[in-house]
Amino acid sequence: MEKIQHQTKIKPSIEQIKGYNYINSNDFEDWQYQMRNQVDTLEDLKKYINVTTEEEEGINNTTAKWGTTPYFASLMDPDNPQCPIRKQIVPSKHEQENRYGMENYLVFKENRAEDEDRPDTIARQYEDRIAFTVVNKCGIYCRHCFRKELVVDESLQLRFDVDEGLEWIKNHPELREVLVTGGDPLLLPDEQIEYIIRRLREIPHIEMIRFGSRLPIVLPHRITSGLQKVLGRYHKVPIWLNTQCNHASEITERTAQAVWDLLTCGINVGNQAVLMKGINDDKKSFQELHQKLINIRIRPYYVFYLEPAPGIDHFRTPVEKGAELIRDTLRGHTSGLAQPMYVIATNIGKIPLMPDYYIVDKDTEKYTLRNHRGETTTLPNVSEDGAEGAILH
Ligand SMILES: *Cc1c(COP(=O)(O)O)cnc(C)c1O
Ligand code: SF4
Repeated sequence: MEKIQHQTKIKPSIEQIKGYNYINSNDFEDWQYQMRNQVDTLEDLKKYINVTTEEEEGINNTTAKWGTTPYFASLMDPDNPQCPIRKQIVPSKHEQENRYGMENYLVFKENRAEDEDRPDTIARQYEDRIAFTVVNKCGIYCRHCFRKELVVDESLQLRFDVDEGLEWIKNHPELREVLVTGGDPLLLPDEQIEYIIRRLREIPHIEMIRFGSRLPIVLPHRITSGLQKVLGRYHKVPIWLNTQCNHASEITERTAQAVWDLLTCGINVGNQAVLMKGINDDKKSFQELHQKLINIRIRPYYVFYLEPAPGIDHFRTPVEKGAELIRDTLRGHTSGLAQPMYVIATNIGKIPLMPDYYIVDKDTEKYTLRNHRGETTTLPNVSEDGAEGAILH
């Protein structure tokens, strides 16, 4: 029988990519080696790409952290400064500019100045779920990070007392879900991840655990059999993992393997992309990203409008852009499973934004609806009373 070919056109294998020449293959497979050898100097970067003078200026001007795993660095296009991966890795001189960003953004966004007494590790916007920040290290220091004050600039210092956070969660029975985040929580050693999961599972009101981690994309080697054992040991409190992939070129055979490994131990994998000018705000990139995600079994969850954190305006699009891209490239145009929700993350929660397009007209009698091809149809407009009436007659 003929072997089934993978449907997606996926990037070359590890052996074929450039960075491989600099690292022995056993080391490349070792996630801790990759973290110890992050590409975070101009000299290192030059092994992967032909650095432009503008990029060099960006690097020399920044005081913020930057850098990435050698694996993710090797996916950059060495000759194209517009490469979407490259723009997420290499500091830009535009980071020194700020027009729409808010100073002390994170304190505002995460309601850290509010009345409720909360440990530093807890960010709260909702009644039944919280974000639990356990670490401020990452596999890549994304240039567009909205938590950059904590992760990249390190101007906001938090006390990462995990036990204090766990105790607080235990004392709040209204919580159903804990979102373990960072930084990147999967950078913790297996034993610490195991500890957090075990302690959370011991809390009777916690019904689900969610991890936010970019590692399946920037360091898929982290999904080791050891980590699979830690994550996959339980089924009563489901674990979901949301990763962040912003462009189809970030997806390799290695990513597909890591996602498969997560799924086979019962972890559901979703994606939260960030809409960024010059990276994924064109129709082709936006559609391709979502199609490829679904092809490697990652379910698109959110696309975020770029948050008003300081120094990231060079990635900013108009607010409506994400809704328009869903309208023009996803809804009706491709699999319904490939549809994320476009949201604006604010200090009062995430606000979904739909394109002002589907409902053409509405009166007391009927709705007029438009589809992705611009065709229209009608539907009776039924009120609560009307619905009862319809059943009676
Ligand atoms: C994003 C976020 C959540 C999760 O929101 P969902 O809509 O459930 O994905 C929870 N708490 C905080 C503080 C958040 O920022
Ligand atoms: S991986 Fe996430 S937290 Fe870390 S820098 Fe990137 S966006 Fe920020």
